[in-house]
Amino acid sequence: MSYVEKVLKNLKKQNPNEPEFHQAATEILTTLAPVVEKHPEYEKAGLLERFVEPERVISFRVSWVDDRGRVQVNKGYRVQFNSAIGPYKGGLRFHPSVNLSIIKFLGLEQILKNSLTGLPIGGGKGGSNFDPKGKSDREIMAFCQSFMTELYRHIGADTDVPAGDIGVGGREIGYLFGQYKRIRDEHVGVLTGRGLSYGGSLVRTEATGYGLVYITDEAMKARGDSLKGKTVIISGSGNVAIYACQKAQSLGAKVVAMYDSNGFIYDPDGIKLDVVKDIKEVKRGRIKEYAERVAGATYTEGCKGIWAIPCDVALPCATQNEIDAESAGILVKNGVKYVAEGANMPSTLQAIEVFQKAGVVFLPAKAANAGGVATSALEMAQSSGRTYWSFEEVDAKLKVIMANIYRNIDAAAKAYGFEGDYVMGANIAGFIKVADAMMAHGVV
Ligand code: NDP
Repeated sequence: MSYVEKVLKNLKKQNPNEPEFHQAATEILTTLAPVVEKHPEYEKAGLLERFVEPERVISFRVSWVDDRGRVQVNKGYRVQFNSAIGPYKGGLRFHPSVNLSIIKFLGLEQILKNSLTGLPIGGGKGGSNFDPKGKSDREIMAFCQSFMTELYRHIGADTDVPAGDIGVGGREIGYLFGQYKRIRDEHVGVLTGRGLSYGGSLVRTEATGYGLVYITDEAMKARGDSLKGKTVIISGSGNVAIYACQKAQSLGAKVVAMYDSNGFIYDPDGIKLDVVKDIKEVKRGRIKEYAERVAGATYTEGCKGIWAIPCDVALPCATQNEIDAESAGILVKNGVKYVAEGANMPSTLQAIEVFQKAGVVFLPAKAANAGGVATSALEMAQSSGRTYWSFEEVDAKLKVIMANIYRNIDAAAKAYGFEGDYVMGANIAGFIKVADAMMAHGVV
């Protein structure tokens, strides 16, 4: 049994009932086999065993009172996975599906993603099974304050800097920051994605979606291709999806479909993003309304059908495992050329295999959606320097970071004999830097 196989077997034994964590660890570790073969010192140092074991897992109770005066109790988590190259950094997810397995898969991915940005940030992730949908502002505030009343003791500008993720946007970050500041009495960059009036960075809101399109554009340019005139499908209609749509449209693509967790809209004339933004950002409503407001557009209940719409480029931007092998097969049959993951782990392992076998250019999440965390790190730099950069300045830095990520994953894939395999390239390029730092730190 190889070193990687041994570590994976043990991981599954020691962490039963964590399917998402197993899935992410399997994808990552199997692609690292050629690296660990080249570095026998890693096995001696127990490097992979340490890499897949979080440095710290915090699990806590979040009690709060709803608008009807009833006491509610949720689970809160923060997984501080790896701080070898910098303070833990990664988002908070508020969604009823959240459990330790999901937070650990996200945290593990985050280590490599953060490393790929080239910036000094370690990996972490957190969240709660709290469902913000349908809650009043007061309920959201009560929940966030209770969540932070426990979390504050574990985080800090040089220790662990959370950000947003599914269900955690500007409003939630504001309430969380307000409570942190009240308890700690310090106005520091302890959370990113903050509002512009209290230490946030321009472009942070747009960063993940913009970055996704920048790296897709980079991969297309390398093949003498471009987004101009291409048909694009984007799943989700949240933060990442909306700004991916905006940037893709500005580069001349036609985005024809999007969804929320109830169903998808198809607009053959191209999505009117102002309508989507009004529904999702302003009214916090359902995407269904789009078809009622825009002539020629249709709404279909259920999400899966979106992948049957023919497209050149697919940008999954909602959640994990939204594309299975069957949907991947349909996309391929309909001629998709590029798939870039805006969400974390939106393609199953089998779906990735289908894309790669068919020669689709596949850009995995940890590279493709790294623009969000990269801009968070730029927000941290502005906070500690007590300064602000202009939109153009941050956007230009983001563009350079995404181009560098593309170059690095491309080069790493080539160096290990897997040209064009960006799953290999991203895992290897991200891992090498973390492994170097962990080796330098000794057994800790
Ligand atoms: P949002 O909460 O803003 O949006 C999520 C979108 O996905 C919503 O449209 C939501 O629909 C939909 N969605 C959620 N769960 C499901 C589901 N089970 N089935 C179908 N649709 C679903 O989140 P973000 O846009 O911030 O995040 C989206 C993805 O991108 C996540 O995987 C996240 O981890 C990843 N990501 C986000 C970053 C960021 O900067 N925000 C950075 C890097 C990665 P509905 O409105 O019905 O809930």
